Amino acid sequence: MKKAHFYGPAICITLSLNLFAQTSKPVSDAKKYKGEVARANFDTAVKPQDNFYEYVNGNWLKNNPIPATEAAWGSFNVLNDSIVHRLRTILNTAAAKKDAPHGSVEQKIGDLFATMMDSVSLNKNGIAPLNDEFAKINAISDNKSLWAEAAHIMKIGPDVMFGSGVEQDAKISTKEVFTLGQGGMTLPAKDYYIQDKPFFKNIRAKFLEYATQIFEQMGESADAAAKDAQKIMDMETQMANASMSRTEQRNIQAQYNKMPMADFEKSTPNIDWTTIFQTFGIKAVDTVIVAQPLFMKQINDMTKSVSMDDWKTYLRFHLLSGEAGKLSDTLSKISFNFWGRTFQGATEMQPRWKRSVEGTSRSVGQLLGQLYVAQYFSPEAKARVHEMVVNIIAAYKERITNVSWMSPETKKYAIAKLDKVMLKLCYPDKWKDYTALDIKRDAYVLNSFRINEFEFNYDISKLGKPVDRTEWGMSPQTVNAYYNPSMNEIVFPAAIMQPPFFDASRDDAMNYGAMGAVIGHELTHGFDDQGSQFDAEGNMQKWWTDQDSTRFHNKLQVIIDQFNGYTLDSMNVKGELTIGENTADFGGLTIAYTALQTDLKMHPEGVVDGFTPNQRFFIAWAQAWRQNTRPSYEKQMITTNPHSPNIFRANGPLSNMPEFYKAFSVGTEKKQNPEFKGFEIKPGDGMYRADNVRASIW
Ligand SMILES: [Zn+2]
Repeated sequence: MKKAHFYGPAICITLSLNLFAQTSKPVSDAKKYKGEVARANFDTAVKPQDNFYEYVNGNWLKNNPIPATEAAWGSFNVLNDSIVHRLRTILNTAAAKKDAPHGSVEQKIGDLFATMMDSVSLNKNGIAPLNDEFAKINAISDNKSLWAEAAHIMKIGPDVMFGSGVEQDAKISTKEVFTLGQGGMTLPAKDYYIQDKPFFKNIRAKFLEYATQIFEQMGESADAAAKDAQKIMDMETQMANASMSRTEQRNIQAQYNKMPMADFEKSTPNIDWTTIFQTFGIKAVDTVIVAQPLFMKQINDMTKSVSMDDWKTYLRFHLLSGEAGKLSDTLSKISFNFWGRTFQGATEMQPRWKRSVEGTSRSVGQLLGQLYVAQYFSPEAKARVHEMVVNIIAAYKERITNVSWMSPETKKYAIAKLDKVMLKLCYPDKWKDYTALDIKRDAYVLNSFRINEFEFNYDISKLGKPVDRTEWGMSPQTVNAYYNPSMNEIVFPAAIMQPPFFDASRDDAMNYGAMGAVIGHELTHGFDDQGSQFDAEGNMQKWWTDQDSTRFHNKLQVIIDQFNGYTLDSMNVKGELTIGENTADFGGLTIAYTALQTDLKMHPEGVVDGFTPNQRFFIAWAQAWRQNTRPSYEKQMITTNPHSPNIFRANGPLSNMPEFYKAFSVGTEKKQNPEFKGFEIKPGDGMYRADNVRASIW
């Protein structure tokens, strides 16, 4: 099963607490930090009290158009781009070194990168590297061979039929369990198959064109290809009708359907589980968690109602559609035209080297990551960020202690849960063991099959073993972070500890407004609509009193209503889909603000570039979210992404925070900074929210 944000990996304290005693803390020195607020990026024609995001970023947004090859361009993309260039150098060096010992890190990533870059062979071979797989599909003759081949394809790559995997048992966080759920559909969410709006109808029309082209590449006539494309649409629509929407998937209790495998087998008699488990290499499964029983029932029914020939057509389509980007230029372009152009609005394909760097980083992230951190790891950033985490946890405890809506007993447990949050910083203490992975200089797609099979076997090998809490679910070169509720852990890869999120050479105000808010965001996930259902050990188990739980959900509803009120490109933000992330943004910013206040008492900071520390905190926050996006990409994100569009991520939490209103108000400001004119946020202003609709949780 494609890993949800949810049941991800693991834990460990990578830094001892006494490490930050060695950190030299910068004492306020306004001169040293001059120039950290780039006023040239501001659009002073915009009133900050109407749209703070536009005010802080307006000129940056005007001066940094989206490159033709990209769907969006902002802080994350710019930082990621600089990392991609570093990775390119590492990969070029590894690929040029043809005598690296077989099995070494350099050999594996060097040979993989070389097969991705070898456009001559890729174009010469066309779809030929898939011929063996096509032959196996053509040889399907009965139910048993259908399921043997489908299970084989699930192992080597493309997502077909349904999702499966081994995950932490949400209610017994020390155990791994076999899980099943929806999958095997091309389009990214149920809405795309069933919604009647012009946007979705257009995507469906383009999907038919795309599928037709894929079948033509297999040698079918235009007519036959169009008919086969329609078959795929019909089959996947039947599957989609029985699946859950993205919003429904936020209900994690509804997806915890645990049962003896024998019972589940009896309820799905058309699916040949014996053959599937043999192909998967699983000896025995006594228990299964079925995330979407209705979907699995639908697949069981379709196994009979859909003809064997149509299932072969379905498997051939998914094999070529899933791998098209790893084959010739012709196939890569067909893939780009649908996924890049239609879905994201990009007008040009990324150059081969960039696709290859990102492809390597995605597929063998911890192999490439070992070479990345060897060159680019910053012990100073690690120590400073560790110190911020400690301060932000303390601030969160303080805020929990002070809220009026939570009972003392729930507070006590919440604080105990915070005390047990495990921290992973920069990169794993123990790298993933890739010994069993063989990489050759034969063909990109064959390497991809071997990598997927390696990952599949790695996953299956966890069955029956205790949960490994040292695992990482992200590579160190990823510009991101996560909280995993089953582990009660927060994870910050090395890549995010860089500007504009973190800069060891600037003062704390801006670091707390960006990196600090990211840390607070991940911590808050432990207490959002989903995380709050997990206890300190990562078990889905109730620890709130009923009354506190009701009050909490009433508070969440205020945020759901707030974000339901935002629209972009004539599409409404989905308040319920984005509630977890919006809560984390709001909570994270609030907690980071409190941590900064404590910090400022010990290490006062002056006015820099005309702004007080609190003002710079909010400026850093707004700046971190700056991003230009293409309308089609934005529409896709609103449909599928649990994060709101960046402009609302920036402005939404601010308009709830009295601290923000106060930081820029004329009265407060005059005292600290006589030159600053300040502004009052009043009813009627874009950023203003009346007291009765203003959210407050932590
Ligand atoms: Zn998040």
